[in-house]
Amino acid sequence: MRSPIIKVAAFLCLVVLSCALAVSAYETPVLMYHHVGFPDSPSGLYVSPETFEKQMEFLKVHRYRVVPLAELAALIREKKPVPQKTVAVTFDDGYLDNFENAFPVLKEMGFPAALFMITGNIGKEGWLSEEDLRILDEAGITIGSHTVSHAFLPELKPEEVGKELAASKKKLEEVLGHPVTLLSYPAGGVTEPAIQEARKAGYEAALTTNYGREKGNVYAIRRVKISGNSGNLFRFWAKVSGYYHVGKKRIEIKQ
Ligand SMILES: [Zn+2]
Repeated sequence: MRSPIIKVAAFLCLVVLSCALAVSAYETPVLMYHHVGFPDSPSGLYVSPETFEKQMEFLKVHRYRVVPLAELAALIREKKPVPQKTVAVTFDDGYLDNFENAFPVLKEMGFPAALFMITGNIGKEGWLSEEDLRILDEAGITIGSHTVSHAFLPELKPEEVGKELAASKKKLEEVLGHPVTLLSYPAGGVTEPAIQEARKAGYEAALTTNYGREKGNVYAIRRVKISGNSGNLFRFWAKVSGYYHVGKKRIEIKQ
């Protein structure tokens, strides 16, 4: 029979190993929303206003630190530790319902967020206007680029990618009157040449979805999609746990 000392030592080793694995697997959840409203037909891109409010309340009640994306990006860039229970909230595309349904909740909770606008859609029906963007910006919602036309960047030539990234940045800077430094790749589509173009255009951080095998790339920050079926708070809790991605498929970032 093994001595109790060996058993205790083996148990402690197991505990230390489990802790080390848990720490290395943890990834700060960056939540990705699209519409906050009611779809005309079933769509995974919609979260109802009630669900959104419940989710933000959940973060508030359970004392998550909802931080501006630029703050999180700076920690990632500088390879500094990010405290557990840190969360960032993002919206892609620039739908008007974000202003109508999500913005009041964020304001009430005192939560920052980042919103990525398809600049070619500014002012169109159902989309945010220049004035909406300025109001959001002044209220602490960081506005970033989601390109001009929502083109899937891996299918474009580098010079076309460069144009999408530079022109959308310029447009937003004209609207807001200050530098725009955050980018979200449409459908998460990122390649190494696209990262180079993002750097060249002057972006300081960029968001993807499930691209990239390594965490900690400030030009490919991964996100957790919040969709219509995330309404169950247990599922939402799993999504903000920092471990939701474990075992999920990752798409390689092509050279
Ligand atoms: Zn999009």
